Amino acid sequence: MQIEFFGTRGSVPSCGIEYVKYGGNTTCVVVTMDDGRKLIIDAGTGIRNVANIGKDEDIRIFLTHSHWDHLQGLPFFGQIYNPEASFKYIISAHNFDDVKADIYKQMSGTTFPVNFNSLPCDVSFVKIDKSLKVDDSLTLEVFNNHHPGEASGIKIINNGKVFTFLTDNEIELLRKNNRYKELIEFCKGSDCIAHDAQYSKEEYSHKEGWGHSSIIHVLDLLIETKPKIGIFTHHDPNHTDVQIDEFEELGKAMLKEANVQMLFFGAKENDVIEF
Ligand SMILES: [Zn+2]
Ligand SMILES: [Zn+2]
Repeated sequence: MQIEFFGTRGSVPSCGIEYVKYGGNTTCVVVTMDDGRKLIIDAGTGIRNVANIGKDEDIRIFLTHSHWDHLQGLPFFGQIYNPEASFKYIISAHNFDDVKADIYKQMSGTTFPVNFNSLPCDVSFVKIDKSLKVDDSLTLEVFNNHHPGEASGIKIINNGKVFTFLTDNEIELLRKNNRYKELIEFCKGSDCIAHDAQYSKEEYSHKEGWGHSSIIHVLDLLIETKPKIGIFTHHDPNHTDVQIDEFEELGKAMLKEANVQMLFFGAKENDVIEF
C-alpha cells in the first residue's frame, strides 16, 4: 500500500516561506492499493495537484466531511471536466446526506461559475454503513468522529495491510463521552495511522470543542495502539515549519519514554509512504 500526501494543512491554506517544508494546501491524500487501484481521501486544495490518478473512467473519492478545507479543491480538480471520467463519491452513512448536498451547493452558480449539474463526467454516490467490502482484497470501514457538523474517519484494509486516516477528530471529547475505547478498537491492528494534531497542549486548553486534537492526545492514542507508522496531519494554518518540527521532536521523545518503536513524523506535502 502506498500513501501520498497532497495537502496536510487544516482549516485554510497557508502561504509563505515559513510553510514550505510541510506545505500549505489543505487535506488531500491518495492511497494506492497493491493492485494499483487508487482512493483519494478528501478534496482540499491539494487535490489540484493530483495527476495520474489511473484510468480516467474510474475515480473514487472518500470525503470525510464537507468543511471548506476538505472540499474547496474539487472545482479545481481537472478530471471533473473530463467527459470520459466517472466519479464515485464515497461517504459514510453518518454524514452522507449533508456531504452530498454540499457537493452540489459548492458549485451552484453563486459560489463558483460552473454548476455541478452541468459537469460532463459521470457522477455516482456510495454510502458506507460502518463497513464496505469492495472485493476479497479491499474493505473500507468508517468511524463517526467527534467534530462539529460531523466528520468520518476511514480504515482501508487491503490484502492484510491496514491504513487508518482520522482527521477533524477530537480525541479528548470522545474520551469524555465514553467513546475512547471505540476509537482504540477502530485503530487497533493498523500498520499506519494518520491523525489530526492541529494543536499543542497549551492551544488545546483554549480550544476544547473546536473538533481537533492536541499532539499529546494523538501520542496517547499511538502509544496505546502501536502502529508501525504514526503520522500527524491537519497542521494548524498558523503553525510554521519550525513549530511542526517541534511537535515531531516532542512525539519522538514521548515514544522513547514509553519504549514504543514507531516511525513517527508530521505529514508533508508530496510525502510518499509505502508499507
Ligand atoms: Zn479540517
Ligand atoms: Zn472540519
